[in-house]
Amino acid sequence: MKKKALVVLLAMAMVFAFMLSACGGGDSSSDEQVLKVVTEATFAPFEWTDEESGEIVGFDPDMMAAIAEDQGLKLEWVNMEFDSLIPALESDQGDIICAGMNKLAGDRADKADFGDTYFKSRLMLLVAADSDLTGLDAVTPDMKLASQIGTTGGDMVKQMQEEGKIAEGIVLNQWTDCYLQLQNGEVQGVIVDKPVGYEYLMEHSDIAKYVGEGFGEMEEFAFAVKKGNTELLDKLNTGLANIKANGTYDELLAKYNMESE
Ligand code: GLN
Repeated sequence: MKKKALVVLLAMAMVFAFMLSACGGGDSSSDEQVLKVVTEATFAPFEWTDEESGEIVGFDPDMMAAIAEDQGLKLEWVNMEFDSLIPALESDQGDIICAGMNKLAGDRADKADFGDTYFKSRLMLLVAADSDLTGLDAVTPDMKLASQIGTTGGDMVKQMQEEGKIAEGIVLNQWTDCYLQLQNGEVQGVIVDKPVGYEYLMEHSDIAKYVGEGFGEMEEFAFAVKKGNTELLDKLNTGLANIKANGTYDELLAKYNMESE
């Protein structure tokens, strides 16, 4: 009889242990959440898609990887159109925006919580290499300018059109499309963030050039999280402070040949 009771007890203990593991008592590493970082990856040197690996690479992925390591976070990157980024946070399709996004622009800070600034820069005007244009002030009402939809540059070319300063402000989904419009002579200029314009000119100085000075407000690039996600934002800000303090941030600026203004 005793033997039978022992076997029943042993069987019950095994069932209990199995139920415990099946109800989340499993390996803690498998419970670690992978955070989705959403971006628009035609914005080199901040982010672009590596042609061979298909990976999203650049300053932002390197910076966020260093922050994630410092804070024990796991990240995966998702590429989407720039004007889909904040809606992605709002609909829980993404956890973090890191996309050279200016936290001061428009109503963005009403819709998402932005972190500490990690880069400062202004906009610039790219024109064809043989253009006579000397800067944004020299643009005439018969001209067309391109920039990316949903960005500070995109808003600027639309505003210039509304004010009659240009015939048309063309806003496109990808920066590569904007450059193509310039190369094809469809537009007389592209308004783009200075470090991104410089990166483009590194390989296209035969067909384009930068004219005039930087313009628009001094932009402050920051990562962002869904409104109210203070815990995650605090981790990201702490990680940023730590990689600035330990020299990693400056090494990344040098790696991408960039200097925050
Ligand atoms: N810095 C600009 C903005 O915040 C452009 C960003 C981008 O195209 N990734 O709107």
